[in-house]
Amino acid sequence: MTASPLLVRFDDGDRTMADLLGGKGANLAEMTRMGLPVPHGFTITTQACREYLAKGQVPAELAALVTSAMADLETATGQTFGAGDDPLLVSVRSGARFSMPGMMDTILNVGLTDSSVQALAARGGERFAWDCYRRLVQMYGRTMLGAEAAHLDAAVADACAGAGVADPTALSVGRLMDLVTHQRQVLKEQTGHDLPQDPHDQLRRSVEAVFESWNSPRARLYRAHEGIPEDLGTAVNVVQMVYGNTGPRSGSGVCFTRDPATGSPVPYGDYLQNAQGEDVVNGSRQTVPLAALEALEPTAFDQLMSHLAGLERHYRDLCDVEFTIEDGALWILQTRVGKRSPAAAFVIAADLARHEVITMDEALARVDGHQLESLLHDQFDDQDGLPWVAAGLPASPGASVGEAVFDSDSAVSAAAEGRAVVLVRAETSAEDLPGILASCAVVTARGGLASHAAVVARGFGRTCVTGVEGMAVDEAARQAHLPSGVVIHQGDVLSVDGTTGKLYAGPLPIRPSSVAAALADPSDEAPDAVVARLVGSVRQILAQADSRARLKVLANAETGPQAAQARRLGAQGIGLCRTEHMLLGSRRHLVERVIVGDDRPGALLEIERIAVDELTQILRAMDGLPVVVRLLDPPLHEFLPDCEDLAVQAALEASAGRVDPGLRARLETARRWHQVNPMLGLRGVRLLTVLPELVDVHVRALVAATHGLRADGFDPRPEIMVPLVADPAELAAARTRIRQHLEVPGASGATVPMPIGVMVELPRAALRAGELARLADFFSFGTNDLTQTTWGMSRDDAQTSFLSAYRSSGLLERDPFESIDEEGVGELVQLAIERGRHTKADIGLGVCGEHAGDPGSIHFFARAGVDYVSCSPPRVVIARLEAGRAEVLGGRATTDDTR
Ligand code: PEP
Ligand code: MG
Repeated sequence: MTASPLLVRFDDGDRTMADLLGGKGANLAEMTRMGLPVPHGFTITTQACREYLAKGQVPAELAALVTSAMADLETATGQTFGAGDDPLLVSVRSGARFSMPGMMDTILNVGLTDSSVQALAARGGERFAWDCYRRLVQMYGRTMLGAEAAHLDAAVADACAGAGVADPTALSVGRLMDLVTHQRQVLKEQTGHDLPQDPHDQLRRSVEAVFESWNSPRARLYRAHEGIPEDLGTAVNVVQMVYGNTGPRSGSGVCFTRDPATGSPVPYGDYLQNAQGEDVVNGSRQTVPLAALEALEPTAFDQLMSHLAGLERHYRDLCDVEFTIEDGALWILQTRVGKRSPAAAFVIAADLARHEVITMDEALARVDGHQLESLLHDQFDDQDGLPWVAAGLPASPGASVGEAVFDSDSAVSAAAEGRAVVLVRAETSAEDLPGILASCAVVTARGGLASHAAVVARGFGRTCVTGVEGMAVDEAARQAHLPSGVVIHQGDVLSVDGTTGKLYAGPLPIRPSSVAAALADPSDEAPDAVVARLVGSVRQILAQADSRARLKVLANAETGPQAAQARRLGAQGIGLCRTEHMLLGSRRHLVERVIVGDDRPGALLEIERIAVDELTQILRAMDGLPVVVRLLDPPLHEFLPDCEDLAVQAALEASAGRVDPGLRARLETARRWHQVNPMLGLRGVRLLTVLPELVDVHVRALVAATHGLRADGFDPRPEIMVPLVADPAELAAARTRIRQHLEVPGASGATVPMPIGVMVELPRAALRAGELARLADFFSFGTNDLTQTTWGMSRDDAQTSFLSAYRSSGLLERDPFESIDEEGVGELVQLAIERGRHTKADIGLGVCGEHAGDPGSIHFFARAGVDYVSCSPPRVVIARLEAGRAEVLGGRATTDDTR
C-alpha cells in the first residue's frame, strides 16, 4: 500500500517521522515496530491539519483514506466500528511534533451510541458500558459542541451527591443511565445539539475538533511560552480503545522509567484501578504508587517493568509511558522522552553516560545553563523552627514563598502587581496554565507526580507540591483546610518546599542551594546521598564541558573575596575589574572631592591607597591568571550629588535666612558638571583629557600592587583596559600616558610588561576596529554599552519605560540587554573581530558585558570566535557549561522529544 502524506498506519511509521506524525504518532509507530502491546491504529498527519487550518476544511482525499484505514482496523481487531456484538470504539488523540501536555483535545470511546452501548455491556458489564458512554458525552459535549465544562461537571456532581458517592465510577447502572440523560439534556439546552448517533459522524467531527484545538487560547499560550512554532499543526491518532474501567482487574497508569524529580534510576509513577487515562492525569481520584501494582496485577507489572527497561534502552533516555490494563492484560498507549526536573536532567545524563548508554558529549548536550541556574537556586533554611503544616508529593523542586491565591486569574493579577503568589488548587487543569506561569509555586490537594500540575510546573521550573494529604480546598470561599487544623486564607503567606513536599504557614528564610555551595567549596560535604549524587553528576558534566570548551570563562570582580569565589567556581582569570566599583558607598565622596577640587591631592592619594589594597587582593586571589583592570569609568551622575537635592537644601537655608558657602559651592560644581545624558557624557577615556590625574592613580596602583606581589613571590598577571573609546586617537593618547607609569621599575629594578587593551563598546569603535587593533593587545566587547548605543536605548530605564510594552506587543521578541541581539549588536561584534584580526591576526578577544553570562549569547560568542567571556562570579559555572555545549552542539538545536 502506498503511504499517503495525510494518513499513516502505525505499522508503516517510525520515530523518525515525528514532523509528519507528531511525537505521539511517531512513538506509537515505533513501539508497534518494537513489538510492544500497542493497540491498533493510524495517524492523520500534521500535514492534513495544516491543510485543514489553511483552508477551513478537511483535505478532500482524507475521508476515503480514513474509511479505508477504519476498515483495516476492523479487520485487525475483528470488530465493527460502533456496531455489532462487540463494537469497536476508538480514541481520537491529539499529538503535535513537540509535546504540549493537556493543551489540546482528546476524545475517548468514540463510536458509542444508544445502540452500541447495549452491545458494549456484553464486553465488560452494563456499569462499564454506561461509564464509557457518560465519558463520551462529557468529552464530546465540551470539545465538539462547546458546552461549558462547569455545567457538565455539575451534572456529574449532582449524580454523585444524589447517590452519596465520591466519584462517578461508584455510581450504579441506573444512576449512570440517568446521568447520561441529564448530560444530553444539558447539551441540548446549551448548544442545541445532541450526541450524533452515527459513529462515523462522531469520528469525523472528533478529528476536526482536535485540528481546531491547535488554535485554542491555552495551546497558543503554551507555544508562545515554549517557543514552539505556530505553523506546525497537530497530528490526530485514531486508536482502538482498550478499557481500564471494566472493573477491579483493570486500570490506567502513567509512569516514568526513572524518577523524573530526582533522576533516581527506579521506575516511578501512578496507577488508578478501574479508570480511564484521563482520571490519572487530572488528579480527580487519588492514585496509588506504581509499586502497588505489583501486588494487584503481578503479571502485568512484570511485563510493564520489562517494557520500561526496553524503552529506556531503545530511546537511550528517560521515557514516560501511559498504559492501561484491561482484565489483567497490559497495553502501552503512549511513550515519549519524558520531561524531568533540572536536577534529574543532570543525574540521568551523567548516569546514562557512566553506563555507556550515551556518550559524555551527549550527556553534555542534554543539560543546559538554565537548568543549572535553577539548581543554584536557594533553598529553605529549616533551622528556624517554623513547623510544617502539611505535606504532599515533591513534584517540582525549589523553595518559594508567596501569598496564597485560589484561582488562576487572581494569580495573574497579583503577579502583574509584582507580588509573589502560590497557586493553591484542588487540582489543576489545562485552563490553569496562566496562573501556573504567574506563580512561584503550585500546590494541589489531588494528583500524583505525573498529574497535570506536576508535569507543567516541572516543565516551567516552578516549585510544585501535589497530592497534599488531607487538604480540603474550598475555591469559592478562597481557603484551604489542612489536616493539622490550620486554615489558609487568600493572601496568607505560604512557604512551599518542592524538594521535600512540605508546606509552611508563614515566610521561611531561604538559604543558598547545596549545589551552589558544593561547587563553590569542594570540601563542603553534601547533606545527603541525593544531593551528593546530584553534585557528583553536575561536576562530571562540568568537567566534560571544560574538556570540550574552546571559550575560556573569566569573571567580573572588583574585590578579593569576589575574585576568590570566582576562582573556586572555575574562573580562569578576571576579565573585567571595574575600578570605579571600589569607590562606591562611603568612598563615593572621594571622586566628588577630586572633581570639585577639595583637597584633590589628598583625595587622589586616598583613592590610590584603596586601589593598591584592592588590586593586591584580587591579583593574589587570581595568582598566575590574567586580571584585566579597567581604567576608571564612572558615570558622573552616580558620583556627584544630585543638583535638585542641593538646590532644595540651599533654598531651605536661604528661606531660614542662612547662607552655607560650602553648600553653595557644591551646588555650583554639581551644576557645572551636570550632564543631560551622563551615560553619553564624561566617562571612561574622556576623563583622560579633563581629569588625567583621576586616571593615573589606577595605573600607578596596578603597577605598585604588581611589584609588591612579585616581591612576595607571587605571579601577578595584570592587564589594562581603556573604556568608552570611539576613536583611535583617544586610545593612542591613553596608551602614551599609561606607558609612562609602566616604565617605572620596581624595587628589583624590573618593569612590568602589561598588555593594554581597548573596550569595544561604542559602534564607532567597532567600525574603527582595524585601526584600534594597531594600538591594542586585545579587544573586550562591552556589550552593555554597545547594546545601549547601537539601539539608542538607555540601559538604565528602557526596561521600565517601554521595553516590556515592546515585548508584550510583540515588537521585540527578547530584551536585547538580556540576550545578545545577534542581527544588530552581534553584527557589530563580528565586524570588529574581522577588522581587528585583519590588522592583528592574534589580537585577544573577550566579552565582558552581562551577555557573557547568558546561555544563548555564549553560543553566539563562541561562533563569532572570541577567546573568552567574562561574567559575574555566580554565573561562572553556567558559562563553563555553555562554553562546552557550544562546541558539542556547534549551533544544533538541543530539544528532541522523540529521541
Ligand atoms: C559594558 O558596557 O558592557 C561593560 C562591561 O561596561 P560597564 O557595564 O561597566 O559600562
Ligand atoms: Mg561599558
